Formats: sequence, structure tokens, C-alpha cells
Amino acid sequence: MTATPLFPRKTTRQIRVGKVAVGGDAPVIVQSMTITKTADVEGTLQQIYALAAAGCDIVRCTCNDIDAAEGLAQIVPRSPVPIIADIHHQYKMALAALEAGVHGLRLNPGNIRKPEHIKAVASEARDRQVPIRIGVNGGSLDPALYEKYGGLTADAMVESAQTEMRYFEEVGFDLIKISVKASNVPLMVEAYRKLSAITDHPLHLGVTEAGPLPGGLVKATAGIAALLLEGIGDTIRFSLTADPVEEARAGRQLLEALGLRERKNVDLIACPSCGRAEIDVIDVANRAQAAFADKKLPLQIAVMGCVVNGPGEAREADLGLAAGNKRGHLFVKGRNVAVVPESEMVEALVDWATYIHEHGVEAALQRVDTTIAEREAARDRSAALDEQGDDANNASAKIVEIRRTVES
Ligand code: SF4
Repeated sequence: MTATPLFPRKTTRQIRVGKVAVGGDAPVIVQSMTITKTADVEGTLQQIYALAAAGCDIVRCTCNDIDAAEGLAQIVPRSPVPIIADIHHQYKMALAALEAGVHGLRLNPGNIRKPEHIKAVASEARDRQVPIRIGVNGGSLDPALYEKYGGLTADAMVESAQTEMRYFEEVGFDLIKISVKASNVPLMVEAYRKLSAITDHPLHLGVTEAGPLPGGLVKATAGIAALLLEGIGDTIRFSLTADPVEEARAGRQLLEALGLRERKNVDLIACPSCGRAEIDVIDVANRAQAAFADKKLPLQIAVMGCVVNGPGEAREADLGLAAGNKRGHLFVKGRNVAVVPESEMVEALVDWATYIHEHGVEAALQRVDTTIAEREAARDRSAALDEQGDDANNASAKIVEIRRTVES
């Protein structure tokens, strides 16, 4: 189910965040962040479980005060995935999070700037063998660097990461991953390229403050995918102004689409619809998406608006549905297997997908006498062609009508 990536991944040093390997030959890892108060242990754990179910490998929680640190002490042992504490401004919160047993830290070099504080955290992390992400953020860059470079530049962000790395090296700490996030996509891509050229520490990719859907999704995908396609990046996070479960889903789906992670869930493909469509493709595709949302079926499933072109265009799909004469023609690997009423299309897809997952494609093709479905599909296809011919949008009649409207 995994497509072969067309690009070699840059080799980085491997570190471990709890049970999850990051970098080296490990798969690219999906991260997200809780939006609950970390002191709310039950609420935060509920969100962590939802994120894990959506494909998130590592979850980050803010550790902004003593209550949050105490919450982490209770969350860490009950979490299904490793927990990283997100630290800003207060280095003592990093020490408290380490005491709480977190599997990783994220430090922002832009707002913890005293070398003795940074080294105190790195020394403690070294002794506990807990990795730290140097999380440079374009929006909170050290003002001195901002001034030196005359604004926010890729070089300024890379220098911020390098300075932090030097402090870590001084205390013999190298369990590092690095991010240089910016909300400007070309800037973020440039910064990661430069960083990747000078270090072999694993890199965590993200477009920071990407914003709400759908624009945020587009920006985050543009930046992250561009780098992954160059072989850069060991972990990713979609920073969306949305339910964090959407971040986890997006991350997972991007990696599956690029062939960087094995497919776990349904890959739903659907035609964009056109004048030939005999069903409301958008509605059926949305209902199918909802029906498969929580099903762990690593199959490609197609929803096609007409039986004229649908089965051919989606012949590579494991399972598909094409509409004809108000009926759903189901096909497995391009071969018609069943005809169902319009009202039962989605249920039939779920039934056949479950069968294929449990028994395989060959067994599904043996499940029924396919000649009946093939004959019915041929009949509906030829009826549709007879009725619409090449003029699927009924253009000739419309042109007559348009001329009459304009000329009257
Ligand atoms: S020709 Fe058929 S399958 Fe292709 S877009 Fe139109 S309705 Fe969908």
C-alpha cells in the first residue's frame, strides 16, 4: 500500500522520543499539540487519545506554569504516545517538565536567551537522556538577530538554531532536533534548506501559525511537502487554527500521499463531477468519507459520478462506485461486481470494503457472479451514451436557449 518515494531522504542522526524513533531510517513522524490547559489532566488525556487515534505519533503539551508541570506528571504515565513539553520564557518550567518525566522538551531560543539557563536545562536533559527540540520561530526571533539581519531572514533563523546548538555542545548534549518555522512559506522552505545543509540533526518541519482551514491547510502542505519531496524532514506538524485532530489527520494523510508512511485508512478518491454525473457526487463522497472516517481500512475507494467514464478512470482503485440510471455500480479493481439502489450506495461500499479487507480482492471477485453486474453496467452505460452522447452537458439545447435569451 505504500507508494515508492521518488526522492532519497537525507540521512540524519537518530534520536528517541520515548518509544518513538526520530531521524535516521525511522519513518517521518506526525506531531500535534493539545489545546487544553495541561493542568486539566482528564481533558488533556482525552485529546491526546483522540490525536493518537487520528495518526499522531508524538503529542506536545504546553508547560507554562507549575500546575501544568504537575499535570504532566500525571499525563505522561497514562499517555498512549510520548509527550513533549513546550517551554517558553521560563527555563524552570523545562526543569519541572523533566522532573514530571516528559519524553522530550521544546525550547524556543527566541525567548529563553540566558546561556546559563539554556545550559542548565541541557545538562539536566543530558543526565536524563531526554531530547530537546530547538524550536526557532520566525515570530519570536531573538531581537538581536532581527537587528543584525535587518529583519526576519532564513539566515537569522539558522543562526539562532546554531547558537543554541553551541550551548548544548558546551555541556556535551546532542539529543537534538531542530525546527526553523515561519508563517511565510518560501522563507520557511529556504531556512530549512539552509539548516539541512549544515547539520545532520533530525529536523521537525512546520509552517507556523498557518491559520484556519482551508488556507492554513494549503500553506502548511505547501511548505512541508516541498521539503519532504527534497528528502528533508524527520517529523512534521500542521499548525492549524482548528481542532488538533485535524492537524494529526492532515499530517498522516500527507505522509501517506507522499508514500512516506504505510496507508492505514481509506484513501477516498472521487471525480470532480461534471454534466454527466447521475448522482450528487459531492454528497455521496462526503457521506462515504464520514462512513469510513474511523475505519482502519487501508484501501483506495473511488466515488465516480457516471458509469460512462467512472469505472475506467478509477480502474486502479481497490473498490469503486459509479452511478448510472439512479443506481450504483460497484466495481472491484475495475470489474463490476454489484448493482445497488442509490439509497444503499454508501452502505454497500462499506460492506464491500470490509469484505475486501478481510478476504482480499480475489475473494471479493469470487463472491458473486460478476456477469450480472457487468451486463447491467453495460446497459446503463450505453443508455447514458444514447441519451447524452458526446454532448454530456446538453450543450446544443443550451446554446439555442442562450441565443434566444440574448437576442430577445
Ligand atoms: S465523466 Fe463521469 S466520472 Fe468523469 S467527472 Fe463526469 S461524472 Fe465524474
